[in-house]
Amino acid sequence: PWVRCLGKERTLAMIKPDGVSGNYTEEIKRIVVEAGFNIVKERLTQLDKETASAFYDEHSSRSFFPHLVSYMTSGPVVVMVLEKRDAVSDWRGLIGPTDAQKAKISHPHSIRALCGKDSQRNCVHGSDSTPSAEREIKFFFKDLVSGDVASQHDEL
Ligand code: ADP
Ligand code: MG
Repeated sequence: PWVRCLGKERTLAMIKPDGVSGNYTEEIKRIVVEAGFNIVKERLTQLDKETASAFYDEHSSRSFFPHLVSYMTSGPVVVMVLEKRDAVSDWRGLIGPTDAQKAKISHPHSIRALCGKDSQRNCVHGSDSTPSAEREIKFFFKDLVSGDVASQHDEL
């Protein structure tokens, strides 16, 4: 798939509302760059209910879904397209497990251990597979073409 062209791979990362409001954006971006990712694109945006629901559609039947949607719409998020070899699995490794409480014990150096609170407010998102990465990058960056490097911010 195109997310893997030129030996590099792309993934979608997001700093969730608790990460942005907790002022973790710069620190997370520093970790991203130090880990060897290229930030191909980034956008500061506010998700509405419809967008957050569509993004997390795979979880729509779960009991936590309404809470997830209100959390994800509670403030601005930063979405980023990250690029490096093995970007999808390397970014998942860097963010740590879903439950930030567990991350603090099992993966103390992970980003979720650093700035997450619990199984919902876990500070960051990462695509879980290359097909998910392709869907999620298209979801936020319809206009992205291979090799395109730019930054844009929505008016909030
Ligand atoms: P991940 O973000 O690690 O891929 P999932 O795809 O399973 O995790 O879940 C998506 C998001 O839904 C999580 O990041 C978290 O914000 C929220 N979530 C997952 N499980 C729970 C739960 N048991 N209770 C509350 N929120 C949850
Ligand atoms: Mg997931």
